Amino acid sequence: MARPPLVPPGPELTPDERTRYARHLLLPDVGLDGQRRLRAARVLVVGAGGLGSPALLYLAAAGVGTIGVVDDDIVDTTNLQRQVVHGVADVGRAKTESAADAVHAISPDTQVVQHSERLDEATALAVVADYDLVLDGADNFPTRYLVGDACARLGVPHVWGSVYRFDGQVSVWWAGEGPCYACVFPHQPPPDAVPSCAVGGVLGAVCASIGSVMATEAVKLVTGIGEPLVGRLLVHDALRQTWDVLPVAADPGCRVCGSGADPTRPLGWATGIPADVDGTADAGAAALARPSVDVGELSALLGAGELDGSRGLLLDVREEGERAIVALPGGAWLPVGDVRTGASVPGLEPGARVYVYCKTGVRSGEAVDLLRARGVDAVNVDGGILAWVARVDPTLPTY
Ligand SMILES: [Zn+2]
Repeated sequence: MARPPLVPPGPELTPDERTRYARHLLLPDVGLDGQRRLRAARVLVVGAGGLGSPALLYLAAAGVGTIGVVDDDIVDTTNLQRQVVHGVADVGRAKTESAADAVHAISPDTQVVQHSERLDEATALAVVADYDLVLDGADNFPTRYLVGDACARLGVPHVWGSVYRFDGQVSVWWAGEGPCYACVFPHQPPPDAVPSCAVGGVLGAVCASIGSVMATEAVKLVTGIGEPLVGRLLVHDALRQTWDVLPVAADPGCRVCGSGADPTRPLGWATGIPADVDGTADAGAAALARPSVDVGELSALLGAGELDGSRGLLLDVREEGERAIVALPGGAWLPVGDVRTGASVPGLEPGARVYVYCKTGVRSGEAVDLLRARGVDAVNVDGGILAWVARVDPTLPTY
């Protein structure tokens, strides 16, 4: 269904702007009027990462007048494989600064508002309220739910995308016009239950496919052309090179935009199912009771020959691709998914203590709890291999 333009047209274009945007002006449904709307538009991009990068570049090139960029991160070498607004010289800089430079290189007149912060319950509403629409390329669930909640409360369209490995999804959530994010994804997964790109990897160009769809949707919404992806979830499989469209509907009982909504609750509450429902409280209690070693202790144990298999065994519960980047020498390997399904630790001798590690200590913590429940003397390596690289051997690669 076509919808009226989101943004009223701004001032007349200058002669230079007519030249610059000539290919837009030639489009019958965009034209001068549409370009003036783009010039007047205020678009917030959450995350200057894999999805935010292509979206920012195309929004800038399209002549969007004001672009807000939310990111609290700094540019890391591992970002460069897909986050194309950042270059080698930007490593170590704030992502918002690097993104602002990239936008200005294309469109010097675009005003960039840097929000070098992670949105939280206290700030999200005020930030989102200052924009006509939001492009959400966040890499974590709490931010997605928070942004979804803020957009739904304000009635702001929430152009959302996500990518993982060779797959992507994209939709436009818009409370009042169609489903909001929480209508379709009512429950936030527990931390680390869903693998992230940082763990499972992502093909860089898939970010461009999804990010450019997000930019296209933004232009359509601002100018009122075509049919936005409201009520439709686009699912992309880059390996089969397919795009499937799934109809999605608003949930009348939605806790964010439906009858279950409660305006007095804190923003982002939908991020959390109460702890006693989703098991968070149990997980917290288990974490407190979980035996652990830090990487310094682990290094000493390795040096003393304690991890010889008979007294102690090192166990990596990460995925194969992660091991290809960096792994501790020796030990056993059993991905956490196999631990969940009850697989036994390869090479485990009776009485040996198992020192379990992953990337940061979260998946290994789950594995320790599962193994201990089966009677295995398992111990978590706090901070995982990233802590090892940071504190024991900084010459190793990281990811
Ligand atoms: Zn909803």
